[in-house]
Amino acid sequence: MHLTAKAPRGSDCAMIDAVEESYQIAERAIAALRQAHLAASPRNLELWLMLIEGKSPSLARDAQRLSDDDGVITQEDADKLYDIHIVRQGLSRDVVDLIQRFEDEMGKISDAVESSGMNVTGNSEKLRFLTMELKRSAADNPAVGALMDGVLSVAKSVREANERLEQQLANSSDEVDTLRRNIENIQQEAMLDPLTGVKNRKTFDAEIERMARVANESGEPLVLIMADVDHFKKFNDKWGHQTGDHVLRLVAEVMNANVKGQDVLARYGGEEFAVILPGTSLPNAVMLANRIRASVESRRLKKRRTDEDLGVITLSMGAAVYRWGDTPDSFIERADKCLYAAKRRGRNQVVDEKTNEELEKEDKISAA
Ligand code: GH3
Ligand code: MG
Ligand code: MG
Repeated sequence: MHLTAKAPRGSDCAMIDAVEESYQIAERAIAALRQAHLAASPRNLELWLMLIEGKSPSLARDAQRLSDDDGVITQEDADKLYDIHIVRQGLSRDVVDLIQRFEDEMGKISDAVESSGMNVTGNSEKLRFLTMELKRSAADNPAVGALMDGVLSVAKSVREANERLEQQLANSSDEVDTLRRNIENIQQEAMLDPLTGVKNRKTFDAEIERMARVANESGEPLVLIMADVDHFKKFNDKWGHQTGDHVLRLVAEVMNANVKGQDVLARYGGEEFAVILPGTSLPNAVMLANRIRASVESRRLKKRRTDEDLGVITLSMGAAVYRWGDTPDSFIERADKCLYAAKRRGRNQVVDEKTNEELEKEDKISAA
C-alpha cells in the first residue's frame, strides 16, 4: 500500500523552486488519494500534504500502522488521523498562545503599576495615622486649626480614593487568580484523554521524546510497554460502543493503579495504551505488565443496569528497553513488534524483546 504517490521520475528537486515543488507535492497528494479511493476533500488534502511533506514522523508512523493492519486506509482511518494530528495539535497551540498572551498582559500591568510609583498598599494606613497626629497638633495650636481643617479634608478624600483603589486592586488580583486557575485547568485538560482521564497521545509523544533524551544522556534504563485490548472489535460489536467505552475506562483504571511516580501512562489511540517506565529494568517492567494483565483478566464484567454477564477481556502487551541512539520512533517500533508477537502467539500475554528474540530463533530452527 502506497500512502504517498512516488515523486515524478527524473525531477531534480534541488533545482526546482518552492512554487514548483508545492505543485508537485499537491499532485502527489491527489494521486495518493486517488490510489486509496478517497475523496480529494479539503481535510484529506491537508492530511496528505502533511504526510508527503514528511515533517511529522508521528503522523507517518500512525498512517503506516493503520495501513499495515489491513493494507488500506479508509476514510474512517483518515478521520482518526486528522483528529489526532491536525485538530488536537491546533487546539493545544491555541491554548499555549492564550497562556502566552495572558502572561504578557499580566507582565505589562505589573510593570505599569511599578513604574507609576503607585505603591498603594499600606498608604491608607499611613494617611490615617498622619491625620490623627495632625489633629492632635492642631488642638494644641488654634492658630493653625482652620488651615488644618482644609488639609484634613483633602487628606480624607485622598485616603478614601486610596482605599477604593486598594479594593479595586484586591478585586483584580482575585480575578487574576481565578483566570490563572482556569488556564491551568484548561492546560491540564489539554494533556489528558477525555474518555479515560489518562494522558493523551500528544502528551505521550512529548514525554517519550523527553525521556528518551534523558535516557540517552544518563544511561539509566527506560522501558516502554505497549498494551492492546484483545478482540475488542468483537466486544464492541456484541455489547455496543458505549459498553466498550466503559471497558476502556476500566482498563485505564487498572493500569493507573499499577503505575507510580515518574511512570507515564497514556492512551496511545483507540484501544491501545502505553506505559513509559524510567529507571526500571526489563524484568521488573514485565512483572508489572503481567500484574496489569492478570488484574484485567480477573475482572468478571457485568452490564451495570441489567447485571448481564459480559465475560472477560484480556490484554496483549509488548515491552522494549531503550537502546542508546534509539529515536522515539525506533523505540516504539520495537515495543510494537513485541506486542504483535504477543498477539500472534495467542493474545492475553506479555512478550518482551529478549523473549521475542529467543522465540524468533526457535521459530527459525523449527522451520529449517
Ligand atoms: P486484536 O486482538 O487483534 O487487537 O483485535 P481487535 O478487534 O481488538 O483489533 P482491531 O484493530 O481490529 O479493532 C479495534 C477496535 O477497537 C475497533 C474499534 O471499534 C475499537 N475502538 C477503538 N477506539 C474505541 C473507543 O474509543 N471506544 C470503543 N468502544 N471502541 C473503540
Ligand atoms: Mg489495536
Ligand atoms: Mg485490539
